[in-house]
Amino acid sequence: AAKEDGKGGATLFSRDLELRVQERTHMENSLQAALRSRRELFVFYQPIIDLYSGRVTAREALARWHHPQRGWISPGEFVPVAEQCGLIDQLDEFVLHQACRSAAQWKDGAHVAVNISAIQLGRETLVPAVAAALACSGLSADRLEIEVTETALLGDEQGGIQDLLTLRQMGVCISLDDFGTGYSSLAHLRAFPFDKIKIDGSFVRDALVRPECAAVVRAIADLGKRLGVRTVAEGVETEEQLALVRKEGCAEVQGYLYGRPVPGADDVERVSRLDPGMVVR
Ligand code: C2E
Ligand code: MG
Ligand code: MG
Ligand code: MG
Repeated sequence: AAKEDGKGGATLFSRDLELRVQERTHMENSLQAALRSRRELFVFYQPIIDLYSGRVTAREALARWHHPQRGWISPGEFVPVAEQCGLIDQLDEFVLHQACRSAAQWKDGAHVAVNISAIQLGRETLVPAVAAALACSGLSADRLEIEVTETALLGDEQGGIQDLLTLRQMGVCISLDDFGTGYSSLAHLRAFPFDKIKIDGSFVRDALVRPECAAVVRAIADLGKRLGVRTVAEGVETEEQLALVRKEGCAEVQGYLYGRPVPGADDVERVSRLDPGMVVR
């Protein structure tokens, strides 16, 4: 369509596209370099609190990238790039190893939750990578939780489910992340018996101002109770939101109210040299 707009339009269009392609290629190359050198990549941890005991039951491992020119780049930006250019297995494996190693040092015995990309399910590399991370760190499998997002299961369902079953047999806990935002949420619950359902933060954030979001939180919490699956409310920022998700029966909460993602103990110094603001909670 751009071609029909006349010469000017076509040039603008192709220049814009060219710029975006260049930017993308540049990001792919620098991500590859970052994965090789490991100096710019970090794993941050955010507490997940059990509402019954009030204790930190787990910490979610979240990838962080500090680019020498651009500064912090959000995983919302670089995870999709890694997925599209075939670097996601390396990224997830890096986070998995770091996370297991860190968690093995935690004195409170909390679990560690690691995000595994959609694309990895049903590939031969996932189960061996998890086994290797556990073996290298000495972390017991029952302290590892694997979070998969809803879209993860859409592709090659069979291979994906088999991987989840194998991980479960090893003792790993499996969570369904960002519940409510993907396609065929309910079909996923039938395809695999998840240990936890994480309610997407967008519903929690708006629950007090939009009745339909509160209704979704309540419906997911009810569903969890009926299925015997623990529900985790993500994105809890205020006392009011906490009261709401507690009333609806969520088992666990995660959000800025309890703590932002912070670097692991071994990385605090390195991160504070780059950006002191990132180490305070
Ligand atoms: P997620 O797995 O749903 O992680 C929760 C996201 O919500 C994190 O964003 C976290 O920082 C943010 N968050 C937590 N509490 C609050 C809150 O109270 N308010 C607000 N506004 N946000 C909150 P983050 O770290 O930017 O990560 C975004 C997404 O990137 C993650 O969503 C996950 O899907 C993906 N991701 C992060 N690290 C990895 C990784 O190592 N591997 C893969 N495959 N994906 C990752
Ligand atoms: Mg997650
Ligand atoms: Mg989530
Ligand atoms: Mg998410």
